[in-house]
Amino acid sequence: MKNKNTVLILGITSMLILISVQVFIIIGIWKQKNETFALKYTILSKDALAYINRRMPDVGFDTVRFLLTKYSEKANKELHSVKDQKESDEKKKDILNYFTKVLNQEQYLSRLLSTYFEKWGFEKKFNSTIVIQNLEMIANDTIVIYRSEDFANRLGPDRSKKPAPNENYRSKILVNWFRWEDNNYRLVFDYLIDFSDKQKVILKETSATLGLSTFSILLVGIMFMVTFRNLKEEQRLSNLKTDFINNMTHELKTPLSTITVAGKTLEMPQIRNDDSKILETAKLIGKQSVHLNQLINMILEISMWERTQFQLDKKTVDIGEFLNDVVESFKSGGGNHASIIQKYDFKGTKVDLDVVYFTTLVNNLLSNAVKYSDKEPVIEIDGFAQDNNICIMFADNGIGINKVDQKHIFDKFYRASTGNIHKFKGLGLGLYYVKKIAEAHGGDVSVSSKPGKGSTFTVTLQNIS
Ligand code: ADP
Repeated sequence: MKNKNTVLILGITSMLILISVQVFIIIGIWKQKNETFALKYTILSKDALAYINRRMPDVGFDTVRFLLTKYSEKANKELHSVKDQKESDEKKKDILNYFTKVLNQEQYLSRLLSTYFEKWGFEKKFNSTIVIQNLEMIANDTIVIYRSEDFANRLGPDRSKKPAPNENYRSKILVNWFRWEDNNYRLVFDYLIDFSDKQKVILKETSATLGLSTFSILLVGIMFMVTFRNLKEEQRLSNLKTDFINNMTHELKTPLSTITVAGKTLEMPQIRNDDSKILETAKLIGKQSVHLNQLINMILEISMWERTQFQLDKKTVDIGEFLNDVVESFKSGGGNHASIIQKYDFKGTKVDLDVVYFTTLVNNLLSNAVKYSDKEPVIEIDGFAQDNNICIMFADNGIGINKVDQKHIFDKFYRASTGNIHKFKGLGLGLYYVKKIAEAHGGDVSVSSKPGKGSTFTVTLQNIS
């Protein structure tokens, strides 16, 4: 048990470590791909801008500049003539709105970039954003219309340095920043792009790594499950064997100690003088020896089956008559206090079977029906022949078997609510024997049962003579 738990804990821990490492690696790859993606498009857009600028400076923004120059001339004058602070604030707001609107709507740079990207076989679908950093109206004095915090923080007055990375741009690529100045205004703005399909593209690029790592985790998981199941099964079998050895020792000890006591009794002078007592003790020794012999034979036979196939000595019998005989001898033996109701009528159906083995099969089922009963045992035997099959049902009013045990009762050494402390004596071999015999005859055995309500064992046979 301890060993199993250690394996379980070790297995789960290593699985968790493996999954964490894999997740860590994947996040790393994802981040790296993200950065590479951004870097690739930054370089590409710089190339594109240089290319566009070399041909026509201001291209992409020529309409914008024209509109802004025209607008700012008028707006500047109006702003400078306003005296009231509130009105001035309103005016500034209008100017900022106009600049933002025109910059975002009238620029053609995005289209030019898109064409450039497409030409070089890159992703051409992206969204562009223009973020105004600083806008001033200039006449004799300078009126600041808008100044972003970021702009105020940017290094140096000449703005020749690259802007400091802005947190809000995290998923966006800063293509360039622009600084325009004419007689009426001074403007600094950033031009950003972001790819809506970016995650898809990265996912496509990382899919092989992702797939492989998921597969490897799955594989390790399956291997772990299989190993753990094998270990559990091994432990179950080893427990069953231990139970079996304990039960067997107990079963063998009972007749042996009876024989020993009987032997000691025979040594007593008062017994030796009484013929009837001698006879009684001798009979007891004989009975216990037979029982001991049966037990040993059963164990020997089972171990023989492990190595060799069943050797059946089949004879053609009338199945109804055969069952009648077995039931009769059972009634005169261990089942004398059981009521056995024989409902079957096979109408003289003949079957090929090994009489010795099949008698054992029926006896095991009948004796279990008596053994696992907490009241007066009532056993109903029913059956029918159909096509080439016959079916025999043994229904009892015993203690019943729960669903979990039903799955295992035909296993070797299995005893329901196992353990060597068992209310009912046994070795867990009876039903294993029944199953083996039924299968050797080309048939099978199954059980249906409800705890407290009794059990029905159904034996099917295929080869009717
Ligand atoms: P054993 O009787 O020696 O334990 P068996 O292989 O005959 O071994 O039976 C396996 C288990 O199935 C038993 O331990 C018992 O719990 C259960 N069982 C078998 N027959 C019946 C029955 N007729 N009613 C209730 N339980 C049964």
